[in-house]
Amino acid sequence: MLADFHVHSIYSDGELIPSEIFRRYSVRGYDAVAVTEHIDFSNYEEIEKIKESTENFNGIETFVGAEITHVPVNRIEEIIGRAKDHGAEVIIVHGESPVEPVEAGTNSRALELSDVDILAHPGFVTEEEAYKAKENDIYLEISARSGHCYCNGHVAKVSKETGASVLVNSDAHGPRDLLDEEMEMKIARGAGFSENKAKEIVNENTERFMKRLKR
Ligand SMILES: [Zn+2]
Ligand SMILES: [Zn+2]
Repeated sequence: MLADFHVHSIYSDGELIPSEIFRRYSVRGYDAVAVTEHIDFSNYEEIEKIKESTENFNGIETFVGAEITHVPVNRIEEIIGRAKDHGAEVIIVHGESPVEPVEAGTNSRALELSDVDILAHPGFVTEEEAYKAKENDIYLEISARSGHCYCNGHVAKVSKETGASVLVNSDAHGPRDLLDEEMEMKIARGAGFSENKAKEIVNENTERFMKRLKR
C-alpha cells in the first residue's frame, strides 16, 4: 500500500488544487493521499471546503487534514479540537524542524496528545519524546522536503532506539514534490534504514496508519 499523508494545496501555500493532487497520485498508483494545510486560529474553517473536494473524488482514497503550524504550545489542544470539528481527519503537528522556528516545546506537547496522528519533521526529537510517540501511537515523520530532511537520520536513529513508528511523507507544495515508491524507498534508505525496514515503512506502516485513521 502506498500513500502520502502530508501535502499542501492552494488552500495554504501549495500550488495545486486538491483534485490535481488526488489525480496525480491516483495516476502514480497510490492508494491514499491526505491534503493537510497549515492551520492556525485564522483559517481552520477552510478545512470544510477541502472536505467537499475529498468527498467528491473517485479513484483514490482521500483524506482532509490539518498541519497545526505556529500555534502557541498552550493552545495546540484547542486548535486540534476546532480542526476536528470542521472535518479534519488527519492531524499533523508541524514539529521542531531545523529550518523553521516553531515554538520550543511543540514536539513535546504534540506527543502528549493522542488526537495527533503525525509529528511532522520533528528535528532533534529526543528519546523521551519518542517514547511518548510510541505510547500514544503517533507517527514521527521522515520528510522528503528540503531543509526539514536534514534531521531524518536523527529521527531514524531515535525511532530505532525507542520503537516509535515512522512514515515517509512528501510535505509537497507543488507538482515536482510529489513522490513515487522508488523515491520513498530512497528517502527511507537515505535516513539510515535497511532495505527491508524501508520496505516495511513505505508499505506496512502506511497500511497500519490507514487502519489507525479509520478506527
Ligand atoms: Zn508550507
Ligand atoms: Zn507541511
